[in-house]
Amino acid sequence: MFDVIIAGATVVSGSGRRRVDVAINGDTIAELLEPGHNATALTTVDAAGLFLMPGLVDTHVHLRDPARPDRETFATGTSAAAAGGVTTICEMPTSEPPINTAARLLARAETVAPSAYVDFALYGGAGPENLADIAGLAEAGAVAFKTWLHAPAKGREHEFIGMASPREEDLEHVIAAVAATGRRHAMHAEDQSCLEHSLAQTRGMKATAGLVHAASRPTEAEDIAVARVLRIAKEVDAKVQIVHVTSPKSIRMLADARANGMDATAEVAPHYLVLDEQTLKQYGPFAKCNPPLRPESTVEQLWHLVQQGNVDVIGSDHCPYLESELEAGHADISTSPPGMPGLETMLAIMLSAAHAGRISLEDVARLTSERAAELFGLSSKGKLLPGFDADFVIIDPTEEWTYNSEKTFSKAGANARYFEGTTFTGKIHETWLRGTQVYNGESITAPLGYGRWVRP
Ligand SMILES: [Zn+2]
Repeated sequence: MFDVIIAGATVVSGSGRRRVDVAINGDTIAELLEPGHNATALTTVDAAGLFLMPGLVDTHVHLRDPARPDRETFATGTSAAAAGGVTTICEMPTSEPPINTAARLLARAETVAPSAYVDFALYGGAGPENLADIAGLAEAGAVAFKTWLHAPAKGREHEFIGMASPREEDLEHVIAAVAATGRRHAMHAEDQSCLEHSLAQTRGMKATAGLVHAASRPTEAEDIAVARVLRIAKEVDAKVQIVHVTSPKSIRMLADARANGMDATAEVAPHYLVLDEQTLKQYGPFAKCNPPLRPESTVEQLWHLVQQGNVDVIGSDHCPYLESELEAGHADISTSPPGMPGLETMLAIMLSAAHAGRISLEDVARLTSERAAELFGLSSKGKLLPGFDADFVIIDPTEEWTYNSEKTFSKAGANARYFEGTTFTGKIHETWLRGTQVYNGESITAPLGYGRWVRP
C-alpha cells in the first residue's frame, strides 16, 4: 500500500518517456509501476492521457525578500512558482542587505522559510569586498555564487556589495575564491568598458526608448566578458555558468570550452526565445532587461543553439518591479530598472515551443529541471525516479490557455504586457512538491511555509 499513486500519465524525463504509474511514499517516489500492476494506495490520482514532467528547478529568480515586499514577497513569488510548475527556486543574492556573508545567508533562510510555498535554494554573492566570506557562505549552504561583471546602476550600489566585479584584476581573486569551494559560479557577463562606450554612443540617439536600450548593450559586451571569465576559470579550474546569455557567439565559446574539458555552462532565459527587439520597441521599459531583447535573427540563432544541445539550462530571471517604476522609464529608459516577471510563463513558453515542434518534451525536462539539479548539486531534485523527491507537474501538452495578468500570483504579472491575451499551448493541471499537491490548476493548495530550504 502506497501513500499516493499517480495513474495513467506518460512520464517524461530528459532521456525519454514511459507510460508508468508513479507510486509515492511520504516525500519521495517509491516506485514506477508498469501498466497492469495491482498495487494500491491511500490516494489514487487519475491522470489518464496527461503527462508528468519533473518539477522545474529555476536557477534564476529574484524575489528580494525581505527587502521589497511592495514588488514581491516570498509568498507571492513562490505562489507564482507553484502555478508555473516550478518546485525549486534558486534565489539570487540581491536583497537589502545583500547576501554576502554566511550570517546573512542563514538569516535570510530563516526569514523567508515561513512564507515559502515551494522549495528554495539560496545563492551567495561573490565580489572583491567579501573574498574572506566566500568559504563560509558555501559552508552555510549557498547553492552557488553570483557575480556581476558590470558596475551596479547609479543609486543601487548598496545592493551589490560583494557581488559586482567590473575590474579584471579583482575578478581573478573572486573566481579563484569561489572555485576553492567547489560550487558553481554564475556570472552576469557584460563588460563594463564596452557598455560605457556603447552608452556614450547612444546618448542623444533619435529612436524609440526601447531601441536606444538595445543599442546601448551590444552582444560584444557579452563576448568580451565571457572570454575573460573563461580565461580565468581555466587557470583555477572553476565551474562557471553564464546567466541569461543572448549572444550566439558567447554560447559557442562556452560549448568550445566544454569540448576542451572545462565545466562552463550556458543559461538562457525564456523571454529571449520568444520576444525580440520589436517587443522592446513597442513596450519600452516594460520589455527592458539586461542584456536587452535581441533582433529576430538572433532569436532564431538561439533556438538553433538550444536544438543543438549547446544550452544547458533555462532560468526564468523572474524580476518583479512596480508598474510605476517601469512607467517612469518611458521618459528616459536608462533610468528604469531592468527585468521582467517569468515564473508563471517559463514552462508555458517551453511547452508551446514543444507543441510547435521546436523542441521535444524530453529536452524541456532536461533544460528546465534535470540539468539544473545536476549542475547545482541538488541531488534529490530533477528526476522522476525512485528515491528522488516527488516533485512534478501534471500537464496537458495540447490544452490552450490565455495569459491574463489579473489571474497571476506574482505581484508583477501585469508588467508582462506583451503577453496579455497571448494564447499558450500546454496547460499545467497540477503541481506537486515532495508528495503533496501545491497547485491544483487554479489555486495554491499547500499550506504557507510548506517550502523548505534545500542545500547542495
Ligand atoms: Zn537576474
